[in-house]
Amino acid sequence: MTAADRRQRLRQRLAEAGLDALLITNLTNVRYLSGFRGSAGELLVGVDAARDRLAVDGRYTTQAAVQAPDLTTVAGPGGAWVRDCLGGAARVGLEAHAVSWQRARELIAALPGVEVVAAQGHVEALRACKDDGELAAVSRACTVADAAFAALLDGLGPGMTERQVAVALERAMVDRGAADPAFGTIVAAGPNGAVPHHRPSDRPLAAGELVTLDFGAVVDGYCSDMTRTVALGDPGPRLRAVYDVVHAAQAAGVAALRDGVASDAVDSACRDIVAAAGYGDAFVHGTGHGIGLAVHEDPYLRPTRAPAGVTTGASATLRARMTVTVEPGVYLPGVGGVRIEDTLAVTATGAEVLTATPKDLVVL
Ligand code: ZN
Ligand code: ZN
Repeated sequence: MTAADRRQRLRQRLAEAGLDALLITNLTNVRYLSGFRGSAGELLVGVDAARDRLAVDGRYTTQAAVQAPDLTTVAGPGGAWVRDCLGGAARVGLEAHAVSWQRARELIAALPGVEVVAAQGHVEALRACKDDGELAAVSRACTVADAAFAALLDGLGPGMTERQVAVALERAMVDRGAADPAFGTIVAAGPNGAVPHHRPSDRPLAAGELVTLDFGAVVDGYCSDMTRTVALGDPGPRLRAVYDVVHAAQAAGVAALRDGVASDAVDSACRDIVAAAGYGDAFVHGTGHGIGLAVHEDPYLRPTRAPAGVTTGASATLRARMTVTVEPGVYLPGVGGVRIEDTLAVTATGAEVLTATPKDLVVL
């Protein structure tokens, strides 16, 4: 699907929402709809395609002409350029979740007689289901992460620091074709494993510890996201039991995925197993999230009601061609933690696991 095809689909949504145009200020959405990859810019998409404009500053004029050749560019972002493209428009949406207060006030002042309204989720809803090219890119990003992890395991052992492991894993991904890591790699060993988003430290890994590694690659603009927890020697019966619970919960979540299922039902599939094992209070986050151009995007796989501290959200209906993660975890302060995460593509009858690294406990 081309950027122009995507803008055409957006026009239908805007017309249904009673908007004459939408100003897109979320840069990932700008990229999705235009192909432009700069670090600053705004895109106006009208129900009438003649209104479409890409606003970039002088650093990006040449780049925009290459990456978004079918769009007319104007000088921006910011300023009153939108006014010049909106003759006759009555109602214009701003991305309420991605526009600054300052910019919104500036536009309201610059557009007398135009109703400027909060609009959100239109582009995110389009982005949630991936076309063939996007599915292939996410899959490639997963394959790069798989290969990098396999190479890392060959040299992983006690004595390396968390930070050294993180750097080695990121380097291994870049060496295998990643443009970048998809996010700051998490390496959490021993008691640090109880912190879901622990930052890698200079603490050396020790024998008998579990090590949680959460990492992803960016390939052709699309992200992967995978977590594996490995053991440096026998972790003992308690942590082995925790591993088995998380492993079973993750498998149940994966098995629950298919076109038409509610996102909170997938969360429940994982959470019920963790709770039944007595660790319900130790699963402190949602089960997963959509992934694509952004590492975290719609849909979110969360409970609608949850134990204290877990982020809740409205349930979404999962559809074929959505790419999502399933990543339950158990976190025991002072002891350690386990998380297992795959990136998957939802299909009509189930889901395709795109991160192929095995999930049986690896004891190094
Ligand atoms: Zn992750
Ligand atoms: Zn994730």
